[in-house]
Amino acid sequence: MTQGGPISVAGLVDRLTRPPGRDGRLTHLEVLPPRFGRRAAWPTWTSADLVRALAGRGIETPWTHQAVAAEAAHSGSHVVVSTGTASGKSLAYLLPALTSIANARGPHGQRGSTVLYLSPTKALAQDQLNSLLALELPDLRAGTHDGDSSREERKWARDHGEYLLTNPDMLHHSMLPGHARWSKFFSTLDYVVVDECHHYRGVFGAHVAQILRRLRRVCALYGASPTFVLASATVAEPETAASRLTGLRVAAVTEDGSPRGQVALALWEPPFTSYHGENGAPVRRSATAEISELLADLVIENVRTLAFIRSRRGTETVSLTTKRLLDEVAPGLSDRVAAYRGGYLPEERREIEQALRRGDLLGLAATNALELGIDIAGLDAVLMAGFPGTRAALWQQVGRAGRGGQDALGVFVARDDPLDTYLVTHPEALIGQPLEANVFDPANPYVLGPHLCAAAEESPLTEQDLEMFGPTARAGVDALTEAGLLRRRPSGWFWTDRHRASDLADIRSSGGSPVRLVEQDTGRLLGTVDQSSSHGTAHPGAVYLHQGETYLVDSLDLDDNVAIIRRAAPDYSTSAREITEISIVSETVHVSWGHARISFGDVSVTHQVVSFLKRRMPTGEVLGEEPLDLPERTLSTKAVWWTLPAIALEEAELKARDLPGAAHAAEHASIGLLPLFATCDRWDIGGVSTAQHLDTGQLTVFVYDGHPGGAGFSERGFHAAAEWLGATREAIASCRCEEGCPSCVQSPKCGNGNNPLDKAAAIELLDVLLTHRPLPQPAQ
Ligand SMILES: [Zn+2]
Ligand SMILES: [Zn+2]
Repeated sequence: MTQGGPISVAGLVDRLTRPPGRDGRLTHLEVLPPRFGRRAAWPTWTSADLVRALAGRGIETPWTHQAVAAEAAHSGSHVVVSTGTASGKSLAYLLPALTSIANARGPHGQRGSTVLYLSPTKALAQDQLNSLLALELPDLRAGTHDGDSSREERKWARDHGEYLLTNPDMLHHSMLPGHARWSKFFSTLDYVVVDECHHYRGVFGAHVAQILRRLRRVCALYGASPTFVLASATVAEPETAASRLTGLRVAAVTEDGSPRGQVALALWEPPFTSYHGENGAPVRRSATAEISELLADLVIENVRTLAFIRSRRGTETVSLTTKRLLDEVAPGLSDRVAAYRGGYLPEERREIEQALRRGDLLGLAATNALELGIDIAGLDAVLMAGFPGTRAALWQQVGRAGRGGQDALGVFVARDDPLDTYLVTHPEALIGQPLEANVFDPANPYVLGPHLCAAAEESPLTEQDLEMFGPTARAGVDALTEAGLLRRRPSGWFWTDRHRASDLADIRSSGGSPVRLVEQDTGRLLGTVDQSSSHGTAHPGAVYLHQGETYLVDSLDLDDNVAIIRRAAPDYSTSAREITEISIVSETVHVSWGHARISFGDVSVTHQVVSFLKRRMPTGEVLGEEPLDLPERTLSTKAVWWTLPAIALEEAELKARDLPGAAHAAEHASIGLLPLFATCDRWDIGGVSTAQHLDTGQLTVFVYDGHPGGAGFSERGFHAAAEWLGATREAIASCRCEEGCPSCVQSPKCGNGNNPLDKAAAIELLDVLLTHRPLPQPAQ
């Protein structure tokens, strides 16, 4: 193959499957046809300077989706543009926003129109600023506003900034509480851009939804009513998520007008190894070991490849292993492979990006964390170590490949867990399915309460205001008044405490004071972890991953909420195990499938982390289990649960002694599969199973949201129960192990040592459960 020539997808797949022993690893190959680009004219109102500047960057005309979305925003409609990776979504908001700024500028260059750009991370805002400045628009005053900004920069932004790039955290903690100082900026605010809005999901999504409502309210105080333009990865029903996020009616633009070559997606399952895991279960070869070989093969073929790996250490292992493999067969090529991670300076990142674009670098191992703010074009292939969480994210990663509209190959390599195993053996669950909707619940009372207080501090809340905060706001305000946090006066509800109300909500965590992670040697605060998950992730002895770096936790002080950690490179990973009890507080809704009953409602969960398991990396071999002494915790949250009465089990001739293992195995697998339906991580949810539960008197399996007040995940599970539990049954049945393994019914966080588990009885039990389920609607 010549340098930089187009790739042949069929030839590459043949090359990857040919080496001896690789039989059966490719479980499916899906080839999507190319799409031709559709161009539009510049909207007639576009500023002439902007058209010139874009032409200078090689953009002669917009693609149709860019023009349609820009036109909608210009006419004052709130709009979300939800198209593929690298389809140029930013033009959709840059055209109206920059034109508005240019047109409103006074004769002496005075500011007349302002734009607020929000991104989930500082790094992305910085990248966006760099591309904005590269346009070299005359007089444009743009800048970032984040925790690193100096006092002078902040003052400049308030007094002169036209296009301000920030994040929801700054809005929440600084700009909204201090809105009086920003009054001029807010009073002329014409556009609010919410970039990468699919990142606002779960509890974080609920917080951001409330912050955007507070923003709208503050703008209204100053007579402004900005148009919202949101950019999203391709997800299902982007208009629903965008409307939930902003509280406004938002139209969606989803028809991608940008060109794309042929895209092939290969599904790949690593084989079982000779190692044995817990209870003698077989262990699969790790996805990273598999990817190192595939990466070496692709580099030899001169194919520019990016491998997405979970951890920084993983990227380094892949990079080193690939180099070693190359040295054996193709000396000289190993210099053209590198690891790429967070923490690099922008210049270092640019250098790597350019080396890849030039073809000097052929193979790159990067952490998923780099998904945001990464600007890598010119790739031929993408390797993925494990499912990136959603179908939308998977296609987004695959979308990184395909330079200049050429053909592209994506390879999804399964990790040893039920979801990955299910997906590579059930391609129909990945391909041709509508993408996931973005799940979050703005009405979560644990989230809403603090934001109502913050809003009241910003300006007393009136009856009218409450509508904006949703149907549960009135009850929330009453409870806060009752608790003495708000005071009712004739003109509204007031915040009268001397503390800052915005400190009540930590928007990146969910309830309770977060636990601070402090580096032992330097005393540096590296980050925080939710109190609710700290026992499971920051217990003494835990291997903790932070932005791709590996740390060991030395101690966890629960009185001061501090975990002391230090950089380390252990050759094992850890997973905490917890035991859980659950009681039903109230059932909100249920459906019946024959004898079976599927319910959703409020529960109280008592759980305790009791030990942790060490596994050798990358083989997954179990090294041992260490006990922990941590207190019980209780959690009020939401759950989905299903019950089967004794009569149904007897009719199906299920033996009583098999039921605990059957329910337990079904619970584990269903937790593993829920992320496919609810855009959550398996660590966001938990489960309990019992052959007879105190509250129901029947065999019951619960899956609950691991966040106080719930995060919308179990609710989604309830609504998708037929598909979700059906997929759970399939995942167990199609795993090729004999008696259960981490790819089907074993769970890394099981507090009962994955015992008892009964794979065969779990399938029978789920068959009974599913007998009378409503049949899924055939696809239109
Ligand atoms: Zn298995
Ligand atoms: Zn378990």
